[in-house]
Amino acid sequence: MALFDNFGRLHDNLRISVTDRCNIRCFYCMPEEGGQYAPKPEILSFEEMAHFVRIAAGLGVRKLRITGGEPLARKDLHKLIALLHEIEGIEDIALTTNAVLLGAQAEALYNAGLRRLNIHLDTLDRERFHQITRRDELPRVLESIDKAQARGFGPIKINAVAVKGVTDPDIIPMARFARERDMEVRFIEYMPLDHQGLWDSKQVLTMDQMLAMLRDEFGQLDAVPDQDPRAPATEFKYRDTGQRVGFIASVTKPFCLNCNRIRLTADGRLRYCLFAVEEMDIRPQLRGPNPETAVAAAIKENLRRKWIGHQIGAEQFVPPPRPMYAIGG
Ligand code: SAM
Repeated sequence: MALFDNFGRLHDNLRISVTDRCNIRCFYCMPEEGGQYAPKPEILSFEEMAHFVRIAAGLGVRKLRITGGEPLARKDLHKLIALLHEIEGIEDIALTTNAVLLGAQAEALYNAGLRRLNIHLDTLDRERFHQITRRDELPRVLESIDKAQARGFGPIKINAVAVKGVTDPDIIPMARFARERDMEVRFIEYMPLDHQGLWDSKQVLTMDQMLAMLRDEFGQLDAVPDQDPRAPATEFKYRDTGQRVGFIASVTKPFCLNCNRIRLTADGRLRYCLFAVEEMDIRPQLRGPNPETAVAAAIKENLRRKWIGHQIGAEQFVPPPRPMYAIGG
């Protein structure tokens, strides 16, 4: 079994948001106060998520990414990881986290079988971290990274959102931090996913601009020929160390043509794109009498509707009706 959309793209990658809540408040994602969250009973249980994954795996899904909101804010996340590990066909599970709670949960997550982490960190400057996230949590994040590296998680990648006028001074320190620790940092272009529609294309620090900054500081970088053309990051290698640095250039170099992803939100909505304006509630099927057939049909139907790509920057672009924290990053 394999899932193809109307454009011949194979879909074997599922992102599951386990909660829409978060313990920090990044200005480009969440309001400082008064976020809107799904009521608890609307949120899928771990058993329901695992059931969905079993059906999706039967259709050819092989890779999972657990995200949120902040996934570690969901109680006992390691129990979900353990459940997902048991599912036949699933070959890879990764977690995207802001790492505030990672230190405390690292052991349980490791024992549940998790190895791959993407840690979100935009700056090493405590004040700017506070300004961006509205929380003074940089020390805990750095401790968590130490702990995760010491415990043997890997590969660990760092996701750094780049916003012009805010994180320009962080590009080189973040790159140096990753080089010293032998981790890959991936700089993410600022996308129109904030809650208030504050995004402006002038605030996008582009991949080309960041690449020029890195070349000035570290010398030559060479493009890595796409090993996995469906991975969202465009990667480069530093000529001096051979280490890698990546860019998620969703705005200036969209990678939609290679898209292999479907998404499940914490409240059971299926989405074929981060920027989709429509979504499909699969809870009735999942909670109904014949979930195997009904959920499989819903996944195929959702994929049948998938568009060729989002159109950030184009006049006709419409931002998604839900912010990133509610969709799942
Ligand atoms: N809480 C987890 C985390 O911080 O990684 C997972 C969810 S978070 C929404 C996933 C990623 O989306 C993070 O790296 C975050 O910085 C990024 N993100 C959120 N809003 C964004 C925006 N407007 N543009 C680009 N990236 C954004």
